Formats: sequence, C-alpha cells, structure tokens
Amino acid sequence: MLKENLRTVEEKIEAACKRAGRSRDEVTLIAVSKTKPLEMLQEIYDTGTRHFGENKVQELCDKMEQMPSDIQWHMIGHLQRNKVKYIVGKVALIHSVDTYRLAEEINIQAKKRNITVPILVEVNIAGEESKFGISAEDAILLVEDISRLENVQIKGLMTIAPYVADPEENRLYFRRIKQLSVDITNKNIDNVSMEILSMGMTGDYEVAIEEGATMVRVGTGIFGERIYKKSNV
Ligand SMILES: *Cc1c(COP(=O)(O)O)cnc(C)c1O
Repeated sequence: MLKENLRTVEEKIEAACKRAGRSRDEVTLIAVSKTKPLEMLQEIYDTGTRHFGENKVQELCDKMEQMPSDIQWHMIGHLQRNKVKYIVGKVALIHSVDTYRLAEEINIQAKKRNITVPILVEVNIAGEESKFGISAEDAILLVEDISRLENVQIKGLMTIAPYVADPEENRLYFRRIKQLSVDITNKNIDNVSMEILSMGMTGDYEVAIEEGATMVRVGTGIFGERIYKKSNV
C-alpha cells in the first residue's frame, strides 16, 4: 500500500519535473513520517528512500535511534532553543530557523562539537498569523545576521504555503519565495548559499516543483492521513 503511494508520488514528481524542463535529480523527496510507526518508515526505507522528515525533537530522536543509520533526517518543525542540543550534529538539515536567537543557539551547540550546521531560513511567505517563519520583508536582514555566525551555514529557504483546496492558489507564493532566493543570491552574502528551496507538501508539491522547489516534504501522500491523539494536539 505505502509502496504504491510512494510510486504515485514519484510519478507525479517526475511529471512535474518534465513539465518544468527540470531534471528529476534536482528535486529531493523527503518522506514526512511524523506520528507514523517505525514499521511504516521501514517499509518506505526498503524502497530506497533515505530522506525522512520529522517535526518534533523527541520523536525524531527516538526514531533515529531505532532506524538504520544511513538515513538523512530533516527537522522540519518549529524548534525550541532548549532542544537544539539534542539534534545538532545528528540531523542532515534544520529547515525551520526563523529567528536570530535560534540560529545563535544552533551556532553555540555546533561550536561545542566543532562542526558546521546546515540550515534553511523559514519564510512565512503568505504572512499567515498562525504560522511560524520570518516575513518576506525581514528575511534578507535575518539571512545577513545569521551569515555572520561561524558554525551555521544557510543553504536556502523553506516555506509552508497556506492550506488550500486548489494548489494553483499557492503558485504565486512559490514564485515569490523563489524570487526572494534569487534576490538573496544576487547579494552575494558570504557564507550563504541558496541552493535549496524546501517547499511543497502533499497538496501542492507538483506546483512547487514547477516553481523551483529542490526539496518537497510529503507526508500524507506517502503514509496516509495522520491520526492525532488528544495529547498530541
Ligand atoms: C507535516 C508536514 C509536512 C507534510 O504534510 P503533508 O500535507 O502530510 O504532506 C510538510 N512540511 C511540514 C513542515 C510539516 O509539518
């Protein structure tokens, strides 16, 4: 069942790449496995998938301990500063950095371990009240500030587009954040690269790819609907 889901997602990614005149290897699929049991992750792992995304530190660390060590884990959820120490050096990429203070804490923990930590700056591209992320207007300043931290390296931008019935409604936002990443590239800021654009979820990843996504984060489309226990809400 999951394998068929994954195949469907893969076919849609390939088709979107083709429409956009892009090569399939420009886009990394992250299987978002939050709330899902290890057996399901293992089933997807067995197809060759090596990028998994989680949004909670505890769950991420638990799963990391129990799954094969060649998985690249992506922290995609809101991150509290007091939990940074548990994931620095363990995850492949932190997608959700939206304040200088958070980047500073990542820098401190990275320095302690003598490593450089790759991060994305999360942008609230639609300016939704309910969402984390820096506003598009303030993003460049934040990137410039973070760029001065020695043990953190900005690799690009991430966004969570609005929840919409028709993915076409998000095309404008994807286009805007792509443009923002081009604007930042053109500033040639030391220690900053814009090679990654993490955007697109189950409802809108095809449009996101057409607009330049290099990472798509797909949960429901692979693992099915999530059931949240009351304690998780
Ligand atoms: C849960 C989550 C996803 C995946 O959402 P789906 O709609 O299930 O594909 C992607 N990105 C982030 C940040 C998430 O929290």
